[in-house]
Amino acid sequence: MPTPYAYLRKQFMPLAEAKIGVMTHAFNYGTGCFEGIRGNWNEGQEKLFIFRLRDHFHRLHNSCRILSIDLPYTEDELCDVAVKLVGMCGYSEDIYLRPIAYKSSEVVGVRMHNLDDDLLMYVTPFGAYLDLEKGIRCMTSSWRRVDDMTIPARAKVTGLYINSALAKTEAQTSGFDEAIMLNQQGHVSEGSGENIFIVEGGRLLTPPPADNILIGITRDTVIQLARDELGMETVERAIARSELYTADECFMTGTAAHVTSVIDVDRRPIGNGKTGEVTARLQKLYFDVIRGRNEKYAHWCTPV
Ligand code: PMP
Repeated sequence: MPTPYAYLRKQFMPLAEAKIGVMTHAFNYGTGCFEGIRGNWNEGQEKLFIFRLRDHFHRLHNSCRILSIDLPYTEDELCDVAVKLVGMCGYSEDIYLRPIAYKSSEVVGVRMHNLDDDLLMYVTPFGAYLDLEKGIRCMTSSWRRVDDMTIPARAKVTGLYINSALAKTEAQTSGFDEAIMLNQQGHVSEGSGENIFIVEGGRLLTPPPADNILIGITRDTVIQLARDELGMETVERAIARSELYTADECFMTGTAAHVTSVIDVDRRPIGNGKTGEVTARLQKLYFDVIRGRNEKYAHWCTPV
């Protein structure tokens, strides 16, 4: 029987025993940063492959540097903890690994300094997040993507996800699947938990980091796969909302979302309103890569 385990205060323990106090700083003020990492089950090999584990821990380190959170583990040490934890749980299905580096002091007072830090990791089974078959319908959110001058968007800050949660709830309670957030300048930024791409005249376009995106690892994966496997360049430039409406294809990328086709934006069908050819080819490539079925990209997959 698979059993969920967690890592907290430098110890492995059953998930049910991993508790934090109600006064924990990060719980009160959102002073943590995290990662979302997938382990993808390979049926044939009966193995889990964790995707781009080290790259996620590299981004976690960067988030910690921005927030002044002390993370006294090297990327290698973090990978070791993760692999051990995932192995202990014993899942034979897709999983999500969630590390959080956070302000652990149980004290009242808003600040980032003079506080203790801890690292938490847990594992949970995790299937599809968005509709991968049919594609999704999106709305332009009335909420703007948080600005680097407000909360650094390139850091995956726990408290920052209020921005995403407001946008996601607005979209879903309005009958859409996902939100597309614009930044303060009105440029397309990203989804609530996904980066966005359009296909236009045989190339890919995606917003640059300066438009307040989280610099996604799936985004980077797709840029590399498009270049090396499909011979398609990706141009990183500011994208206007109206460019979404006239795009040939549109898709979103993210660890949770994988590569998800966007078939409609603000009630306007994208292309012919079905998953486009480039999107479908990227999806196929991507799923083979993340499940450890493509030898060329085996270096991105950590077997457990
Ligand atoms: N943007 C936001 C706001 C996200 O939460 C995520 C998910 N981590 C992404 C983009 C996609 O990033 P990644 O591909 O690294 O999961």
